[in-house]
Amino acid sequence: MGILEKIAAAGVVGCGGAGFPTHVKLKGQFDCLIVNGAECEPLLRTDRWLMRNKAAELVEAVLAVKEALHIPRVVFALKHHYEEESAALRSAIRAAGAPIELCELESFYPAGDEQTIVYEVTGRVVPPAGLPSEVGCVVDNVATMYAIYESMQDVPFTQKYLTVTGEVRSPVVLRVPVGTSFRHCIELAGGALTNRFYTVAGGPMMGRGVPYEGLDDAVVTKTTSAILVLPEDGYRAGHDTVDICHMLNRARSACIQCTQCTQLCPRHLLGHGLQPHRIMRKLAAGTAVGELLHDSDIRNAQLCCECGVCEVYACPMGLQPRKINVMLKKALRDAGIKYQRTETHWEPNLNRELRKIPTERLASRAGVYQYYNYEIRELLCDTPEQVTIPLNMHIGVPAVPTVTVGDVVQKGDVIACPQEGALGAIIHASITGRVRSVGTSITIVSGE
Ligand code: SF4
Ligand code: SF4
Repeated sequence: MGILEKIAAAGVVGCGGAGFPTHVKLKGQFDCLIVNGAECEPLLRTDRWLMRNKAAELVEAVLAVKEALHIPRVVFALKHHYEEESAALRSAIRAAGAPIELCELESFYPAGDEQTIVYEVTGRVVPPAGLPSEVGCVVDNVATMYAIYESMQDVPFTQKYLTVTGEVRSPVVLRVPVGTSFRHCIELAGGALTNRFYTVAGGPMMGRGVPYEGLDDAVVTKTTSAILVLPEDGYRAGHDTVDICHMLNRARSACIQCTQCTQLCPRHLLGHGLQPHRIMRKLAAGTAVGELLHDSDIRNAQLCCECGVCEVYACPMGLQPRKINVMLKKALRDAGIKYQRTETHWEPNLNRELRKIPTERLASRAGVYQYYNYEIRELLCDTPEQVTIPLNMHIGVPAVPTVTVGDVVQKGDVIACPQEGALGAIIHASITGRVRSVGTSITIVSGE
C-alpha cells in the first residue's frame, strides 16, 4: 500500500482547520511542503507538545511524504521563540540526515493561516479564493503530520491530542479518543474553576463557541485542537451572543469608516481585494442584503478567512465585520454565487510587515491574557467508558455507518465510510465496546 492509500485507510484529515481529507489534499504536484507548526492562536500548546516530544516521528513522516510525492523542498515553519521545539526538530533532522529546512516566523497572528504561511515561507501569494497548490505548495499542520506517521504504522486516526486550558485547575495537553465528551476532558484538567462557564472548541480567535447549555452535546472530533474554558460573562461569550440583526443595526449607526479593519486584514495585506470597511459601508446604506449580492465589494466577503482580526483587534467601535462576512458568505453560497477572479496579479501591501499583530497583544484584546503564559508541558492520556463519534468530522459529505446498534467493535475497526465517489474520510472506533446508537454520530460504550 502506498502512503496515500495508508493515509486514506487511517481516515486522516487536517487537524488544524476544517478537516480536509489529507489523502485528497496530498494528490497533486508540489514543489514545497510546509509543515505548519506556528500554532498561531493564543493559548494552544498541542502542536508545540508534539514538536518537543515527537520530533523524530514527525521528521520520518515528512520524509516519507517528500519521497513518495517527489517534493523537492520541505520546511517546518514555527515561531522563532519556540526554542525547545526548534532544538528538538533540528536534532531529529540531523539524526535522520534529512534535507528539511526550518523557517522561524515572528510571533504574529495569523502566522498559521495557510495563505499567510505560504507567503512567509516562499514569498508566493496564493491567488484570491485559491489554494496553496496553485503556487506549488501544500501545507499540513504538525498534528496532521503525526497522524500521517501513525498511518504509516497502520494505526488509524482515533486518538486526538488537544490542549485544555483557561478557567481549569490544571491546564494540560490530553490524548483522548475521538468522541470523548468535553465534560470529561475538562474533568481531566482538574475541573472548571466556576460552576458555569463558556467553552470554546479551538483557539480564542477562530474556535467555535459552546454555551454552557450545549456542553453536554460537545465531543472531541478529529479537528478539535483545544478546549478553552472561559468566563460566561467574558469578552468571547459576550461577543458571540450579539445577534446578526443587532450587529447590522450597530454597523449602520456606528461604523465611522476609519478603515482599520481593512488596513489590518491579513488577506487584504496579501493583496487580495477584500476590504471589510467597504462591505460595512454598503450595508450601512440600509439596502437589503439580498439586493447587494452582485456587488463586487460584497462578493469579496468570500475571501475572508474568518481570522477575527477586524473585530477583535482592529475595530475601535466594537463592530463585527467578520460576523457580517460569515453571514454574507452564506447568503452568497445559498444564492449560488461563486467568487469570480478578475485580477491577474496580486502584490502584498507595502506596509504588511508593520501591520503584523503581535500574538501577546492580541491575547490581551481577546480577553485571554491571564491564561497566555500558562506553562503546559504534561501529557495526560485517558480512555473514557463512552464515546460519541460524529459522522461529519471532515469537509465533504458525512460518512455512512457500517455498524448497527448492538455490534461489538474493537478500537480501530471501521465504523463508517465515505459515500461512493464523495469527498470524505473513513471513521474508526476509538474505543473497544458495544455500539449503543447510530444516527448523525455513533455512540460506543465499553464494558457492555
Ligand atoms: S475576519 Fe476580518 S480581518 Fe480576518 S480575513 Fe475576514 S475581514 Fe479580514
Ligand atoms: S474598523 Fe470598525 S468602524 Fe472602522 S471601518 Fe471597520 S467596521 Fe467601521
